[in-house]
Amino acid sequence: MDLFEYQARDLFAKHGVPVLAGEVIDTPEAAREVAERLGGRAVVKAQVKVGGRGKAGGVKLAADPADAVEKAKAILGMDIKGHTVHKVMLAQTADIEEEYYVSFLLDRTNRTFLAMASVEGGVEIEIVAEENPDALAKIPVDAIEGVTEAKAREIVEAAKFPAELHDQIINVLQTLWTVFIKEDALLVEVNPLVKTSDGKVIALDGKVSLDENAAFRQPDHEALEDKDAADPLEAAAKAKNLNYVKLDGEVGIIGNGAGLVMSTLDVVAYAGEAHASSLGGTVKPANFLDIGGGASAEVMANGLEIILGDPDVKSVFVNVFGGITACDAVANGIVQALELLKSKGEEVSKPLVVRLDGNNAEVGRQILTDANHPLVEQVDTMDGAAERAAELAAA
Ligand code: GDP
Ligand code: MN
Repeated sequence: MDLFEYQARDLFAKHGVPVLAGEVIDTPEAAREVAERLGGRAVVKAQVKVGGRGKAGGVKLAADPADAVEKAKAILGMDIKGHTVHKVMLAQTADIEEEYYVSFLLDRTNRTFLAMASVEGGVEIEIVAEENPDALAKIPVDAIEGVTEAKAREIVEAAKFPAELHDQIINVLQTLWTVFIKEDALLVEVNPLVKTSDGKVIALDGKVSLDENAAFRQPDHEALEDKDAADPLEAAAKAKNLNYVKLDGEVGIIGNGAGLVMSTLDVVAYAGEAHASSLGGTVKPANFLDIGGGASAEVMANGLEIILGDPDVKSVFVNVFGGITACDAVANGIVQALELLKSKGEEVSKPLVVRLDGNNAEVGRQILTDANHPLVEQVDTMDGAAERAAELAAA
């Protein structure tokens, strides 16, 4: 989960990374009082989860509280690379002399953590990495040892930070590492880390990405979620503990096991190439949904409910390979799920193509045949079922 800058700033402050005072607001009028509290002058910054706000006009200096209202008015509602600005942060201004870059991240390829640092901050670091790779120091960080003072010194020297700032930047690196570890982050980045005209080092812009797998031990993190931005179907699925991702096609997909669902997406996209879509282009999968092992009637009903709640869905492909949970249990699950939805007044109104294979496939298929639901069709092969589902979804 990526955080907004103001949320990153709060986490930095909590763990002792030097930042400037700041407050987030969502109406221009609120800017006056905040600017007064910050001492009159303020920098007004768009809160969107995308970089390059400065260049896009999303970072403006305000001379006084009245100007802060004007600048907030100009930035709120702005579109930055497809993200609408709903909030701005007002922060104390800094008299910047130099802009640097520091970050910690998970380096999956090398199975370690990585520190990156550069005296050429302020611009996008990808550009520095490409145009002047020597200016970006990359130092592996051992997960157990972490960023000791010696490690921080190694980073500072590799990046060639000015000698008189070494102690301050070592402190930034060690406190930033505390954020990374204590908050279970996958990325903490400061760009720019600035040297002010009075020689202080301050984190002026922060980016933090949290590891959602650690949610069970980070109860505070739920409050950081951007509920407004979440897709409503994904949010509903999450509330029901379903592994669902919304896509932009029209064939709803339910399968058991992430690998099977992934390949189901592929075969449906392939079959869909031969069919024109009413959404434009060709027929495509509408979602990823893995109902996992024990596909009970309730889980199946929850899955169908989410998928049928997507107005783009024209047909549903249920692709199950019976393993420990055999096909007869899944077939009973489907039959009961259809009844459950009917009793809730949400009777299924779109065609379902079911492919059952694996353990007890024959028994499962017979159960569905006997149930004789008018909208349920069975196809024995995965490719055949994908083709039928794509055909039913076509314009
Ligand atoms: P980004 O463009 O989305 O990365 O947003 P940043 O927060 O990094 O801001 C972009 C640029 O605005 C920085 O690199 C600074 O040059 C400038 N900036 C941000 N805050 C201040 C400030 O308080 N004073 C001054 N003078 N410039 C600032
Ligand atoms: Mn920045």
